Amino acid sequence: MSAAFDETCIFCKIGRGDFGTEFVSESDRCLAFRDIDPKAPVHVLIIPRDHVRSLADLNDPDLAADLLHMCGEVARREHVDQSGYRVISNAGEDARQSVDHLHFHVIGGRQLGIGVE
Ligand code: 5GP
Ligand code: ZN
Repeated sequence: MSAAFDETCIFCKIGRGDFGTEFVSESDRCLAFRDIDPKAPVHVLIIPRDHVRSLADLNDPDLAADLLHMCGEVARREHVDQSGYRVISNAGEDARQSVDHLHFHVIGGRQLGIGVE
């Protein structure tokens, strides 16, 4: 199970507004903000407001739908919906998940590499 808020979690704190982060998009249960270390001209992270560790812990189909819906909305808002973009969620150690609060990367604005390396 996942607690609604994790006091040690940087993304929980961003969601609470601790750092004055600008949100690209907001809904009841989800948030989007720019990655601090962008890998492309558009690099936005979509997260649930509540602390969920990763996709492996996501047991709420409605929340899953909200998150994916916001990915598409952010892509349109950032004007990469026509040019193309990638949505990635790293879950766990093998995938090198570095922040243990579920997030989807929306990456675009340039030609991306081939493969998942
Ligand atoms: P992961 O490696 O877990 O899939 O992705 C974590 C992402 O969060 C990385 O791309 C990293 O740059 C980003 N990140 C880590 N700390 C912060 C932060 O404090 N603010 C923002 N905006 N992004 C962060
Ligand atoms: Zn969290």
